[in-house]
Amino acid sequence: MTSLLITDSVFQGHTMPAGHPERPERLRAIERALAVPEFAALQREAATPAPLDAATLAHPDEYVRIIAASAPSEGFRFLDADTSMSPGTMPALLAAMGAACRAVDTVATGAVANAFVASRPPGHHAEKATPMGFCFFNTVAIAARHAQKAHGMTRIAILDWDVHHGNGTQDIFWDDRDILFISSHEMPLYPGTGAENETGRHGMIHNVPLLAGTDGATFRATYDAKVFPRLEAHKPEMILISAGFDAHRRDPLANLRLEAEDFGWATQRVMEIADRVCGGKIVSLLEGGYDLEGLSTSVTAHMRELMKA
Ligand SMILES: [Zn+2]
Repeated sequence: MTSLLITDSVFQGHTMPAGHPERPERLRAIERALAVPEFAALQREAATPAPLDAATLAHPDEYVRIIAASAPSEGFRFLDADTSMSPGTMPALLAAMGAACRAVDTVATGAVANAFVASRPPGHHAEKATPMGFCFFNTVAIAARHAQKAHGMTRIAILDWDVHHGNGTQDIFWDDRDILFISSHEMPLYPGTGAENETGRHGMIHNVPLLAGTDGATFRATYDAKVFPRLEAHKPEMILISAGFDAHRRDPLANLRLEAEDFGWATQRVMEIADRVCGGKIVSLLEGGYDLEGLSTSVTAHMRELMKA
């Protein structure tokens, strides 16, 4: 079966001030890496924008309206010290939601084995009603709710291997009984949440903090001991990945020491679990990853495994 790749130049229209690490070049590096013959068999699609209402799957109406009204017609508008909107931000946000929901639809119906969405801005730091950490709408949370609403799924798992804690996703699903949220992340590090004792109202939050300097061997052992057993035990009907690649050793915003191959390994393991519990249904959404070489080689390793389905 084929894998779906959704990306779009609209995601490069969201800009932040010069020197900001979350920059359009990230997607250009990914596009270059996936333009080689090895990836010719990918099913490729551009993004179709979702209606703004899609954001209300994960955020209150008023918050969604405030974000939409905050977009500047020129220049930047800062929502926090390192999170700002540009004229291209709303089109990118709508396209990111549309792409994520399209990926869920395509995988849920079995038209493709799995999907990867290379979009910006990232989403996992966006809480119910707070934009932060380069994020405005929580795309992976919206995708999870869409899978439930549009495809009648109940049990979803979200695995977040971005090096930063997915505080926004945790916030949105804190009270949920059916969505398992697993986050591994360097700790202490931005945003400061993600301790093991943060487990959610019904024990569906599973945080796996990692120490600075964690290498691939320790990462793999930790995932085998703490992440994969919990993921499989949940018996999700679909697995969503908040796929940040900033745990790569080259990343300037964090201090883990993963190699691209470690992301390939994790992808393969998630696929084995998905094959056993949900017919292989995986939708992976780009989050962070700020070193262009670390990002593009890691995405390559991730996509290479996904294509083996
Ligand atoms: Zn990150």
